[in-house]
Amino acid sequence: MNTIVHEKEGVIKYRLDFTSAGAVDESALTALQQWRLTLYQLGLIGQDPERYGGLGYGNISQAVSSTSTRQSIDDLPERSWSEVDSISADAVQTARGFIISGTQTGELSELTPEHYALVKLCDPIENHIIAQGPIKPSSEALTHGAIYALSPEIQAVIHVHSPEIWSLRDRLLMPVTPMDIPYGTPGMAQAVQQLWQSGQLKSAPVLAMGGHEDGIISFGRNMAEAGMAMLNVFQWARALQLADDAEAGKVELSHGF
Ligand SMILES: [Zn+2]
Repeated sequence: MNTIVHEKEGVIKYRLDFTSAGAVDESALTALQQWRLTLYQLGLIGQDPERYGGLGYGNISQAVSSTSTRQSIDDLPERSWSEVDSISADAVQTARGFIISGTQTGELSELTPEHYALVKLCDPIENHIIAQGPIKPSSEALTHGAIYALSPEIQAVIHVHSPEIWSLRDRLLMPVTPMDIPYGTPGMAQAVQQLWQSGQLKSAPVLAMGGHEDGIISFGRNMAEAGMAMLNVFQWARALQLADDAEAGKVELSHGF
C-alpha cells in the first residue's frame, strides 16, 4: 500500500458501537473544559476554512477513573514522568474508559456536556470502539485509546493541530510517528507503542504524528500535565519561528527602549 498523506480530517475510521445516552455529569468535565478553552483560544483546536477542507480539528480526553482531586501539577506524585514507564511496565489493559470531545466540535468556542462522549471500551488493535453519549466520539478516539493503553498512569490526552510545532518537529527533537501511518488506525496505535517502548517519550509526554499534517499529541497523569506539555512545546516552536523570522528580516526585534 502506498503512503497516505492527503487524508481527510474528521473521518471516523474505526468500527463504532454507539448508543445514544445522556450527557456525562458536568462536574467531571471541569479540567477538560478549562484546557479545551485554552487550546481553542490558541488556535490549537478549532476550525478554519483555509485548513483541512474547513473541517474541525483537535480533541481532548480524560480517563473516567481520574478524580478531580489531582488536577494541578503540584498535586502530582513526587516521582518524575520518566519513572512512570518502569512502574507500570507490567500493566496490560486497553479497556479503560475515557471521556472525549465529540466528532466535529472544533468550531465551537465553548463546549457543553452534550458535546462529550463516553468511550467505554477502546481496542486500538482491533480498531473497535464502544461508546455512548449525546454525540459520537471524535474521529481520533482510537489514537487517544492507544495512548491510554500505554500505562494506567496516563489520565489525560490532548490532540491538536499546530503547523508551528509540526513543521519544526525535528529541530524541537520531538518523537515522531512514521510518515506512512495515518491517524485513527491500528497502525498509529502500534507506532505510538513503539515510541513508548523505545523510551523516546520519557523526556516529555508529547509527540508529532508524521503522517497526519500538523498533528501533535500530548498526555499526562492529569489534564494540567498534558496541557502544560503541549503549551511548553508550542512556546518553543513559536520562539524558534520568531528567531527565524528575525534572521530573515521579516520582523524587527524591539530593542526594549
Ligand atoms: Zn487531527
